[in-house]
Amino acid sequence: MTDSEARSILLVEDEEAHAELVRKIFSKNNSQWKIYLVSSLADAFKWLDENEPPSLIISDYLLPDGRGLDLAKDVKSPVEMGIPLIILTAHGSEQLAVRSLKSGAMDYVVKSAEELQKLPWTAERVLREWDNVTERKRAEEELKKYTKELERANRDLEDYTSVVSHDLKAPLRSIRVFSMLIMDDYAHSLDETGRGYLNRVKAAVERMNALIEDLLKLSRVGRKFADLEMVDLNELLEEIKEDLKVRIEERAGEIVAANLPSVSTQRVWIRELLTNLIDNGLKFNKSENPKVEVSCEENGKDYLFKVEDNGVGIEEKYLSRILNLSERLHPEEYEGTGIGLTICKKIVDKFEGNIWITSSPGVGSTFFFTLSRN
Ligand code: ADP
Repeated sequence: MTDSEARSILLVEDEEAHAELVRKIFSKNNSQWKIYLVSSLADAFKWLDENEPPSLIISDYLLPDGRGLDLAKDVKSPVEMGIPLIILTAHGSEQLAVRSLKSGAMDYVVKSAEELQKLPWTAERVLREWDNVTERKRAEEELKKYTKELERANRDLEDYTSVVSHDLKAPLRSIRVFSMLIMDDYAHSLDETGRGYLNRVKAAVERMNALIEDLLKLSRVGRKFADLEMVDLNELLEEIKEDLKVRIEERAGEIVAANLPSVSTQRVWIRELLTNLIDNGLKFNKSENPKVEVSCEENGKDYLFKVEDNGVGIEEKYLSRILNLSERLHPEEYEGTGIGLTICKKIVDKFEGNIWITSSPGVGSTFFFTLSRN
């Protein structure tokens, strides 16, 4: 509301002399104010029922049929009441002030000549504060609404990914089985080129299968977050080494980890996270002896983990991109889906941590991530 618009006050006051005084003070200071007078709570409620809400209510604390605060009965804040309320009292007391403000009033004014003269400014101030409070409340509500919509959209997307991935598996299985049958029973009727094509179908099926599996995993990170458990990461690292045994032996690689903590987390996801990062460190690596070092330090209320490799490294311009879905920097050279790091990011996000990368091309990369120590 702009200052030039006429603003209305519902004045609830049973003492005529006081009501007249308030009227005079307002008309002297600002002719824009329109004052409607009622002398009891019942009349005030009736007036509010029958008229457009006023800009402001000024009410005496003690009324013949109750207290001015009853206008804000069952209301916990002025905003809920919908109209700013100023309480007038015969005596000022801290207790009364607190009670008034707690009950939904925006302010209270003692009925001394001096305080009453200031009433128009108090009213102006209350209206300004009111605008701020309602604007803040509106912004908060909007934010809440958008957050809810976003959460819903995310959930829908996860459900959708899960359903689509799941449904894609059945026809893919058929393609795989039938191409195997052709290979086993009809390979001799095909020439070299035909067999080459069939091998390419098989390779494409394997790749699509890997993509579907990774997409399913990605959609599950969002849902399957149940209880936390204490996980000894030194033990977990031994299991991961066992899982990656073939790659380690093939590449004469090495995984080094020391003094990792036990953390309250979810075993299945922390395992996925570390396995992806370590496997990448060994995979995107041209050293004679690929090496991945996992370490951890305490950093304030977080654990800061480092997974460092002596691999091919990543150019600066790609660092922020490779955590995104399907971003692959070496699609011809290395197999993969480009989903692994997105899964890692989602896991760290779920644990309310951060993940980032530093790298020197040709020297190696370090993946950092944080987990809360609580
Ligand atoms: P994928 O391994 O299936 O390709 P990721 O999401 O794990 O998918 O990784 C995305 C891309 O980021 C990889 O294709 C690779 O180009 C790059 N990358 C990931 N980790 C490393 C690493 N440790 N060193 C160098 N490049 C990496």
